[in-house]
Amino acid sequence: MSESSVPVLELRNIHRTFTVARGLFKGKRNLHAVNGVSLRIQKGDVLGLVGESGCGKTTLARILLGLLPPSSGEILIDGKAMKKEERRTIARKIQPVFQDPYSSLNPRKTIGSIVSLPLRVHRVGGSSTWRGKVEEILDLVGLPKRVLHSYPGQLSGGQRQRVAVARALIMRPQVVICDEPTSSLDVSVQAQILNLLISLRRDLGLTYLLISHNLAVVEHLATRVAVMYLGRIVEEAETDRIFEKPRHPYTKALLESVLTPEPGLGVPELQLGAGFPNPLDPPSGCTFHPRCVYAKPECGEKAPPERRDEEGYVTCHLY
Ligand code: SF4
Repeated sequence: MSESSVPVLELRNIHRTFTVARGLFKGKRNLHAVNGVSLRIQKGDVLGLVGESGCGKTTLARILLGLLPPSSGEILIDGKAMKKEERRTIARKIQPVFQDPYSSLNPRKTIGSIVSLPLRVHRVGGSSTWRGKVEEILDLVGLPKRVLHSYPGQLSGGQRQRVAVARALIMRPQVVICDEPTSSLDVSVQAQILNLLISLRRDLGLTYLLISHNLAVVEHLATRVAVMYLGRIVEEAETDRIFEKPRHPYTKALLESVLTPEPGLGVPELQLGAGFPNPLDPPSGCTFHPRCVYAKPECGEKAPPERRDEEGYVTCHLY
């Protein structure tokens, strides 16, 4: 995919700040959950977004889904900037598949009702067409028509995740945000769901933003990887390049930490000498410097430069 073609999804300098009370008499502080994120995702790409818990991945996903407005910055779909009041348009074009299909599916609704909900909310077609569309999408995700009248509790974990995928695809979105799509599933089922996502992407021309702790899943599925640390993208490149030759010291630490990931365990404690910093009081200069084995004196004083070249993007004083 050429870099110059219009990306299906583009983020320009997205910021999201929360004001947090620090306790009685201590006043308030700003938490920069997302701090100037810019990303371009080309049609058909799978962008893997990785980083430790608390790095801002979930906040970014909520912004993309229109569930949370950015404090500043622009979201462009097919080159067109989305305004705040166009949340419904965003919701039609960007749909989510969440981590835990059991908690994201209403246990009191039938599968038919769950999968057709987006059609009803967005008033797509008439009620006479909904059943046909639901049957078609269930078939696409490998579920038999008879589950239409079943409840989530009557299905296996893998089947429930297929329902979640069907619900995401019923609006025929351009981008699907897959947030830890397999981490709550048994290992035996994980591969089936991953293969389903791969074949749907190929057959429907979908684009994914894949948020995952599981680097094996990211390596398997993603075409590009963005590494996030304390609200910022610190490195972004093609998947092969990131896994073969990571440039940012944080990317190296992440890759060295997860050689045999277990489902649901997330990224293990990184052996970096210092823990994840308090986002309310981020370190000066390069925010990774207290944990970085390559840190130089200037790293604690100056924010690192941003470098974009033929190998991708990295922000670090070493480059
Ligand atoms: Fe490490 Fe310095 Fe690079 Fe930050 S800028 S990652 S501290 S070498």
